[in-house]
Amino acid sequence: MSPINISIVGVGKIVRDQHLPAIAKNADYKLIAAASRHGVVDGIDNFKSIEAMLDAVPAIDAVSLCMPPQFRYQAARVALEAGKHVFLEKPPGATLSEVADLESLAAAKGLSLFASWHSRYAPAVEPAKSFLVSTKINSVKVIWKEDVRHWHPNQDWIWQAGGLGVFDPGINALSIVTHILPNPLFITAATLEFPENRDAPIAASITFTDAGNLPVLAEFDWRQTGHQSWDIIAETDAGTMTLSEGGAKLSIDGVLKHDEPEQEYPALYARFAEIIKAKTSDVDLAPLRHVADAFMLGKRKFVDAFFD
Ligand code: NAP
Repeated sequence: MSPINISIVGVGKIVRDQHLPAIAKNADYKLIAAASRHGVVDGIDNFKSIEAMLDAVPAIDAVSLCMPPQFRYQAARVALEAGKHVFLEKPPGATLSEVADLESLAAAKGLSLFASWHSRYAPAVEPAKSFLVSTKINSVKVIWKEDVRHWHPNQDWIWQAGGLGVFDPGINALSIVTHILPNPLFITAATLEFPENRDAPIAASITFTDAGNLPVLAEFDWRQTGHQSWDIIAETDAGTMTLSEGGAKLSIDGVLKHDEPEQEYPALYARFAEIIKAKTSDVDLAPLRHVADAFMLGKRKFVDAFFD
């Protein structure tokens, strides 16, 4: 099979850090064009908009949409209407309904839509899932605390409505939790802390449960300096499972069981090629649904204004 002619839209941090290297190393793809208002990718044709790119380069088979979520739906619709397969960065959109609409459009056109969740491909996630299925889980705690000034400097979109605020990293934790726990969760209570000068939360505390009354607590906070925490801790009949560093390491009762180099974006692009070949889509909205539920059920607390 000839390579998938792929293009990228929204050339920013994650494109440079992850998408370009992952595509370059995968023989299933040939990167042939990019569209971005300011960003450019060296060595290929660059355009200012997705419309101009698709008009000028009919050979494009697929597009990766890497702009902020509030601006992804329109571009995805244009790409699907033009007959292209679509890779959506996480979160897949600003609302559940718009992504459902894209899913229907992709199905009607016989195209592949991929709602990517990179953290699900962290190296210790599958081992954690296998461990949890083998025992009884008594409680789960998710601690996702990082320094927003370090990880998201000058990203205004992230603080605007639809940018999700602290749920932009928090949804990565939710993408893992919804993958490794055996039963579907639902939120029972939440408190969201909004800086008084911003439209998105800087912190959130959420309790979940499932049909078996499993207690699950998630603490997301963007005000953490020093040590950064991306941990999921499960108390089980077979000991304390700690999935740390965003899914990279797995320990049971403090004994390290898995610690392998991460390959999240190469795995995402392998999955995208797989669904294109299989003529199917991969759109799991569970992580985004929990975020929507947190906004729906959560109490709102206003905290100190945030300045970069
Ligand atoms: P970013 O660098 O701020 O944005 C990506 C690019 O999108 C920008 O450089 C910009 O390029 C374009 N863009 C910005 N505003 C736009 C608008 N109003 N309309 C159209 N395009 C716009 O953000 P990022 O960190 O790469 O994140 C992008 C997505 O990737 C987010 O959904 C994020 O959650 C996800 N992600 C990020 C990371 C990370 O470490 N940063 C990790 C995993 C996933 P132009 O100005 O050239 O158009």
